[in-house]
Amino acid sequence: MSEAGPGYQRIALPLPFALRSVNAYAVEGDRLGIVDCGLHTSDGERAFVAGLRELGRERGDVRDVFVTHLHPDHIGMAGWLESAGARVHMHAPEADAARAMWFDGAARRDEARAWLLANGMPLPVIEGMAEAWLEAQRHVDRVERIDAIRDGAVLDLAGRRLRLIWTPGHTDYHAVLYDERERILVGGDHVLPRITPNIGLYPWGRDDPLGDFLGSLAKVATLDVVRVLPAHGDPFDDLRGRAEAIAAHHLARLDAIREALAGGPKDAYVVARRLFPVLRSAHEERFAHAEVLAHLRYLERRAQVMSEATTPVRWALMP
Ligand SMILES: [Zn+2]
Ligand SMILES: [Zn+2]
Repeated sequence: MSEAGPGYQRIALPLPFALRSVNAYAVEGDRLGIVDCGLHTSDGERAFVAGLRELGRERGDVRDVFVTHLHPDHIGMAGWLESAGARVHMHAPEADAARAMWFDGAARRDEARAWLLANGMPLPVIEGMAEAWLEAQRHVDRVERIDAIRDGAVLDLAGRRLRLIWTPGHTDYHAVLYDERERILVGGDHVLPRITPNIGLYPWGRDDPLGDFLGSLAKVATLDVVRVLPAHGDPFDDLRGRAEAIAAHHLARLDAIREALAGGPKDAYVVARRLFPVLRSAHEERFAHAEVLAHLRYLERRAQVMSEATTPVRWALMP
């Protein structure tokens, strides 16, 4: 547990994958609020309880939980906090997406499987991905009731007024919280200090997630912010500089993809293996593949590449 900004405490929660940890932020006002809440493993729960104890609190003291997006390392323990009396809040359409992803059967997983197969991912890799997905689901507690918040609305979190800002890209309805009084942005996975958040294209999702994401980076860069509290890594101050660096990274990746296609049409998986030669897990394979597809879609919507109706789907530079 460490002070992250005035009235904000960071509780780092361990993750059993390469990312290693995710930050929950405790917001202390007249009550206790939490933003994002880790994957529900025994280590995660232990770290959470220890972090609350350092604040002189316990699980039942958490009144409100805001979840920035549906990923398992952010929503995992929300149901556990809810069962001790907390109210769980999310951006309205992201709440719907979370239910579809985790609580309403396996439809999403089956859709993802068919989509990745059509886009060149080998079957054994897909099986590994499906297994990793099931494993993640085991660590996401069911949330019974989610308070749905609209874009731009003000959330009262532990007595603090925080504005929800929709930042699509990393997920379709990812949202950050803006504390205008303290000039703090609780950023979820939107702007991270050392890594770039995964931007992936999925069949059920919005049409152009990379276009969305670049727009969302420009949107938050205009805010008056002196401190960003990211979900992974240390809090940092230079929001605009970091947003620009992340955007530049994607522009360079678009160049790399155009270059990969210069030698002739390729499927997205072949392009992904070229851009990301070292992938250490099924999660990383899927992220790389979906990331390349998001970049291809971005180029397709700007008339720079086209897809061919082959099996698997191949992509070609526009003549
Ligand atoms: Zn995420
Ligand atoms: Zn995350």
